Amino acid sequence: MSSPVGIYLSIPFCKAKCSFCNFASDAFGMDRLGTYVDRLCEEIGQARLNAEDMAASLGFSADTIYFGGGTPSLLSPDHVDKIFSALRRLFEISDRAEITVECAPGQLNAETLEEFQRQGVNRVSLGVQSFVDREARAVGRLHTGAECEAEIARLHRAGIEKTGIDLIVGLPHQTEASWRESLQRAMESGVGHVSVYMLEVDEESRLGREALAGGVRYGAGELPSDDQVAGWYELGCELLNAGGLRQYEISNFGKEGHVSKHNTKYWQRLPYIGFGLDAHSMLCTDGGTIRFQNADELSLYMAGPSDDLFPIAGALSARPERVSMDAAFEETLFLGLRMVEGVRLSRLREEFGEAKMASVMPSIREVCDAALMRMDADLLRLTPRGRMASNEVFSRLLIPDPAEV
Ligand code: SF4
Repeated sequence: MSSPVGIYLSIPFCKAKCSFCNFASDAFGMDRLGTYVDRLCEEIGQARLNAEDMAASLGFSADTIYFGGGTPSLLSPDHVDKIFSALRRLFEISDRAEITVECAPGQLNAETLEEFQRQGVNRVSLGVQSFVDREARAVGRLHTGAECEAEIARLHRAGIEKTGIDLIVGLPHQTEASWRESLQRAMESGVGHVSVYMLEVDEESRLGREALAGGVRYGAGELPSDDQVAGWYELGCELLNAGGLRQYEISNFGKEGHVSKHNTKYWQRLPYIGFGLDAHSMLCTDGGTIRFQNADELSLYMAGPSDDLFPIAGALSARPERVSMDAAFEETLFLGLRMVEGVRLSRLREEFGEAKMASVMPSIREVCDAALMRMDADLLRLTPRGRMASNEVFSRLLIPDPAEV
């Protein structure tokens, strides 16, 4: 029997584009949201056929659903109903399923919230980014800190079981004091989950383009240094852990019972299917796992299935990719190391064999000697320093290319 699948739905519509954002989302215009939802439902309806064409197994039950984007809170009650009807035609959604919706503070109307709850939504993640108004404004957020606090209180009053927020460390104008303020207000708000992302200035984002061109509109000249950001990330880990929001992944902190089950599927390499613009999927086949990804341009996604791409799928950006044994090993190791609980060496040995382990053991020892990772008997974990430098750790653990040995 196939394991329950996780479902991701991309709703890439936003009211305004934040300066740091490099997602496929945009202020596409609300008049296009209805046709987008129809296209999304059409893609959901094709999913089983598509999976068969790829010889992939798509379970009949779903135990996590995640509406991301974009700003899914912009959906109307009718859109929400249509999407859930399409999902229920294909999947049995368990009563205990974790169903998350990402919302922008101040952009969730009462009717949509009510419909989400009627459909079983029990977790809301708010894109706060900063409780400090100057910082939020500088990157194009449309809310104030006080509005974020009011939104969290409203969700709690409405009976949403689990609430979480995203914060960004490294925003323009941020100081240690203002970062402490955001963390403090996050903890006082009573949310059960906090994600902390270190700002990466992507050259394709407005902020990135301004940083390259030397403009002033988005505050690129007011960005803190890499060392400051690293120190504030560590400070965030310390304060959140002390406040009962225990770190369980490089960027994620949760109270007991509030760990994101959906995101944990990604880190544990459990099957998930994504629908919508730029959505990613990973499914199991008899010969291992495959990954595939939808088009990241709205016009291409809306155009629907393309004859050029295998199979009849819902607007893939490329052919589905079979994950090789080496890549699966690296994914298991790297994604597992993102989790604070770490990876069991015995699990890697069992799944991938002794030879694969032997090829990477010298690098594992080296990284442990550099105090970036710890091996406690069977358990391999990043140290706090290793979490800060995770990209460096992962590049040092890549399986050696036989041609280069
Ligand atoms: S609301 Fe989220 S998805 Fe939309 S532009 Fe801002 S960061 Fe990107």
